[in-house]
Amino acid sequence: MQTLFIILILFLISIFSVLLYFKTKVNRLDLLNSGECPTCKQKRKTFFDKNTNTTFTSEVISSRVLRNHGCSGVIEVEYSCKNCGLKEVHSINSSSNCGV
Ligand SMILES: [Zn+2]
Repeated sequence: MQTLFIILILFLISIFSVLLYFKTKVNRLDLLNSGECPTCKQKRKTFFDKNTNTTFTSEVISSRVLRNHGCSGVIEVEYSCKNCGLKEVHSINSSSNCGV
């Protein structure tokens, strides 16, 4: 009975850690998409030039498409941070526009 209880606890812990892993991964992706680095917390900078009345944005995060699986709708994007050199690959589900 006791071993069964321990197995149940371990099972719950593993489920929670998997959920937590996905949650943090989604959070990181959100940060990257909003132009903020999840590691060094550096955000995109905006400058306003009064002389020319234009706003310049300096991106910290640059994204690059590694692989596009086309009709399956999964795109692998590599995000890199110019400030700390972070490199992360995320697969993004895109709504496929392949006609059926
Ligand atoms: Zn960074």
